[in-house]
Amino acid sequence: MKPIPIHAFNPGPYTGDGNWTWLISGRVTTLIDAGTGESRHLEAIERALDGAALSQVIVTHGHTDHASGVTALAARFPGVRFLKMPWPERDGRWPAPWEPLRDGSVVPAGDDNLTAIHTPGHAPDHLCLWHVESRTMFCGDLAQMGTTIYIPPNLQGDLLAYLASLERVLALRPAQLLPAHGPVIDDPDDVLRGYIEHRREREEQILELLRGGESSPDEMVARMYRGLKDTLVPMARESVLAHLLKLEHEGRARRAGDAWHIMEP
Ligand SMILES: [Zn+2]
Repeated sequence: MKPIPIHAFNPGPYTGDGNWTWLISGRVTTLIDAGTGESRHLEAIERALDGAALSQVIVTHGHTDHASGVTALAARFPGVRFLKMPWPERDGRWPAPWEPLRDGSVVPAGDDNLTAIHTPGHAPDHLCLWHVESRTMFCGDLAQMGTTIYIPPNLQGDLLAYLASLERVLALRPAQLLPAHGPVIDDPDDVLRGYIEHRREREEQILELLRGGESSPDEMVARMYRGLKDTLVPMARESVLAHLLKLEHEGRARRAGDAWHIMEP
């Protein structure tokens, strides 16, 4: 399998340089992720197809930069199928005849098969696509070189689930991660373990603040992310909240209104 990276031409404040989508040619020509429908993306796909028909688009999760291109793709490539794990509250935004994938679904792609690995955390419907023969993982937004992954509780992000997803992908021992943002990850083990360690450190920081009597997530953000740009404060707040909710779930913190308190033996 030789996946071809095709840029989605959608740079922006939340997407950085923009998304990568991945084209797998062969019997079942497959695009991983839909991009946002930019005309330059569609043209690049057409060039890479080189006269072949696009059979299907597999979407890693329902965030706009991965899914909103389905309408434009359906118009440009008649007969193309669309597959993703259902996210009922969200999928109505992207009108397409979605075919549901679930954990363990095996999907023919190119001349091989991909297995869907449910990896919630960043989003509840997040799937990685696993090509076992080459130990390649199309990892969507599970990982991105040089940065951590945003876990927004207000969009059903879940830090506990994310940590479990990292462990699950680690256990498969992928040789390579093909992400939706940033360069190919050739050392998945180091990167994924680094994420787990980073979250452990962040959690320790938050516990320390709670122990010191800090109860407000906004104050925690101000103390943990010094000099943060105003526009990024809401994201940092969501990240802190994701940690607090994990601690609450584990019975290590509790909240009363907007105030958080430590629960330690
Ligand atoms: Zn995303």
